[in-house]
Amino acid sequence: MKLPEIWFVTGSQSLYGEATLRQVAADSQEIAKALDHSAQIPLPVVYRPVLTTPEAIRTLCQEANSTPNCAGLILWMHTFSPAKMWIGGLTQLRKPFAHFHTQFHRDLPWATIDMDYMNLHQSAHGDREAGFLHTRLRLERKVVVGHWKDPETLNRLGAWSRSAHAWQDWQGARFVRFGDNMRQVAVTEGDKVSAEICFGFSVNGHGVGDLVQEVGAVEDTAVDTLVAEYEECYDIASELRRQGARHASLRDGARIELGLRSFLSAGNFKGFTTTFEDLHGLKQLPGLAVQRLMADGYGFGAEGDWKTAALVRAMKVIASDLPGGTSFMEDYTYHLDPQNHLVLGAHMLEICPSIATGRPSLQIHPLGIGGKEDPVRLVFDAPAGEALNATLIDLGNRFRLLVNEVEAVQPPEALPKLPVARAVWKCQPDFKTACAAWIQAGGAHHTGYSYAVKTENLEDFSAMAGIEFVVIDANTQARSFRESLRAGEVYYHFSKGFVA
Ligand code: MN
Repeated sequence: MKLPEIWFVTGSQSLYGEATLRQVAADSQEIAKALDHSAQIPLPVVYRPVLTTPEAIRTLCQEANSTPNCAGLILWMHTFSPAKMWIGGLTQLRKPFAHFHTQFHRDLPWATIDMDYMNLHQSAHGDREAGFLHTRLRLERKVVVGHWKDPETLNRLGAWSRSAHAWQDWQGARFVRFGDNMRQVAVTEGDKVSAEICFGFSVNGHGVGDLVQEVGAVEDTAVDTLVAEYEECYDIASELRRQGARHASLRDGARIELGLRSFLSAGNFKGFTTTFEDLHGLKQLPGLAVQRLMADGYGFGAEGDWKTAALVRAMKVIASDLPGGTSFMEDYTYHLDPQNHLVLGAHMLEICPSIATGRPSLQIHPLGIGGKEDPVRLVFDAPAGEALNATLIDLGNRFRLLVNEVEAVQPPEALPKLPVARAVWKCQPDFKTACAAWIQAGGAHHTGYSYAVKTENLEDFSAMAGIEFVVIDANTQARSFRESLRAGEVYYHFSKGFVA
């Protein structure tokens, strides 16, 4: 994955004279370099010359728009930079920006401070002038406050830069759907035109026959090689092994994987959906193939769920430099012990092995729906730890991104008869509050589930998209949560008309 860059942009003005501006530039270069080298910020940070005129600001913003490799801007006012100079540029800027409210020196030089020092280190008021204009223009941005060597501050910028990366990845991204949605299902529907306008990615359908053709064209030798790779990576059930009675099914699964890979790669797709209702010509519902493609960074949604496919892709990009996996997920069934409410998350087949604890087991079992041969699949448990579920829904007049923070736990007992990969978690703040809030908010049963992506990333990401963001976390209370949903209805109805 080629990393896009973040531009570090400092505002000033010509009032201070050349010597001061030289110092501003030197300080800015040092900060940009530190951010660039920071382990907490995964993207390259590129210093841009200090801006002191409306013309230069406008040119810079236009250049950012027309540079695909620029994922976003970090803005900082070292000195005062009269903000009317920024109107022309910022009203055109189409890239996300973070407003970094920092200062070059951490400590005040109490014994030596004079007016020269005061005139150079003015971000305390210069950034307020900038912030007024950003708010006056109703621009969504992240405001990060703190010294540029403060690790907490760097974490905030790093989280934002991961989201900017995912946002950049969505622009022009292509998602393919094999078949349509599962018949009669509501939440996996949505307005693909609105989505493309809002998010920048396109979603288009292909007949499953196009995929079948790719699968049919796979060479036997390629299947041999892939089966050898399975043997290295997984514990293969004896019936699927080379001498086993059902080895042919494993080869069918490998063939489907190779065909899917070749289709996705030829079409430059970043994710896909399948549906068990449209599998004409495929021997099995793709299970193993989907699992392994997700592990390689493709987004996926089952039953035609293109919004979740796109969301899983974005979450994969956000998490690309972080430990802890990310998967398509479904709230499947519950453990309703009043002392220990648990959710068992799984799907018919398609859970990403990036969240596997230990070495997955490759197995074959019957599947009650789809009317096809038994599909091969990876079976594993997901680890304990902090995680979240996220869902992207279409409310008709807008999109909403909803997050529930959860605490994944070890299954309290073994699940020897369950033939699919699974995760078990406790919801924050508690099961009853979380599930009621999720349902009140219209959250889907499909989610992106991640140990690496944090609420902060998805909040920043929603701001970049200009969509509603709703979180269910340890602080959620049922009544105020419902009030916030009602407030969102009003806000998003009117917000398009706020800038004047
Ligand atoms: Mn499903």
